[in-house]
Amino acid sequence: MINVTKTFLPPQDEYQAILSRAWNAGWMTNRGVLVRELEDKLKTYLGVSNILATTNGTLPLQIAIKALGLTGEIITTPFSYVATTSSIVWEGCTPIFVDIHPDYLTIDETKIEAAITPKTSAILATHVFGNPCAVEAIEAIAKKHNLKVIYDAAHCFGVRYKDKSIFEYGDISTCSFHATKLFHTGEGGALFTKNKEVYDTLFYHHNFGHKGKEAFQGLGVNAKMSELQAAMGLAVLPYMQSILKSREEAVSNYNKFFEGTSIRGLHLREGTTWNYSYYPVVFENETQLLQVKTALEKHAIFSRRYFYPSLNNLSYLKKNKVEHSDSISPCVLCLPLYSGLSLEDVAKISSIIKKNL
Ligand SMILES: *Cc1c(COP(=O)(O)O)cnc(C)c1O
Repeated sequence: MINVTKTFLPPQDEYQAILSRAWNAGWMTNRGVLVRELEDKLKTYLGVSNILATTNGTLPLQIAIKALGLTGEIITTPFSYVATTSSIVWEGCTPIFVDIHPDYLTIDETKIEAAITPKTSAILATHVFGNPCAVEAIEAIAKKHNLKVIYDAAHCFGVRYKDKSIFEYGDISTCSFHATKLFHTGEGGALFTKNKEVYDTLFYHHNFGHKGKEAFQGLGVNAKMSELQAAMGLAVLPYMQSILKSREEAVSNYNKFFEGTSIRGLHLREGTTWNYSYYPVVFENETQLLQVKTALEKHAIFSRRYFYPSLNNLSYLKKNKVEHSDSISPCVLCLPLYSGLSLEDVAKISSIIKKNL
């Protein structure tokens, strides 16, 4: 069986050697030595100003909305994982969907201004499959209209744009370290911001609002990463180079096999150093996608419709249409991609697909 992804697991003895440090300290959470070490190492590895490790990649979105004091309408993309939209609704704000660019699959920055109203407080956009949004244009729009910018950068571990970590753009960026993501801690995630004051606000929000043991800075929730999660991150991190190399080989083989076919892959924004996080293909229509998906399943190969459905169709939202996202979302399929996927398997997957176009 070949799944769309496969969690990278470090040698168990290495994980346990790191875990034993938490045992020796008798300390499982509340920012123990492992969480702090993981944050330090990631800060250097990613080249970011500030990082706050969290227990998943969804609470950071909710905390970011809270920390920036957002209210009313938040402009967002319908082509993302449900957490992007649900976090906006969960925080009592209204998502306003702006269509995506048909090639980049990220929010179409040229359509943002038309969606701004007096109630708009922010833009929350996703760097889809690690492909950056038009961050400079979005920053200019935000400045002009006095809006905050949050990036759901769940797919962006290690992505650089114009020689800078993509996490350094916007007021706040979030990442997910879920087991299905490129870098993982089982469940986990992080918050990033260039701004030290914003970091301090995020920090108290993620720890019940505590300011010391008995005082409170304000409202908070519990989004702390545990030592068990950090131990996994510390065990996985040394393998990032080989993880990326294996994924890069699979991606370049897929690309070669699909040359000259009608299959469209991800169109990366110029200036991006990508992370090989996903291999999405855009089919000509949904019928073709379903035919390919079924053919793969007959060989016990499981792709995934990611992201489908387009989020403007969620049952708890008022119905509305978003042209490109509604038409592209049914045609996107993510093919198996993970460290250790053999080139024979890539060849097999590609040839089944080509036979079923
Ligand atoms: C995975 C993902 C999330 C949620 O992350 P969790 O760690 O699973 O909570 C949010 N947004 C996007 C785009 C994702 O892919």
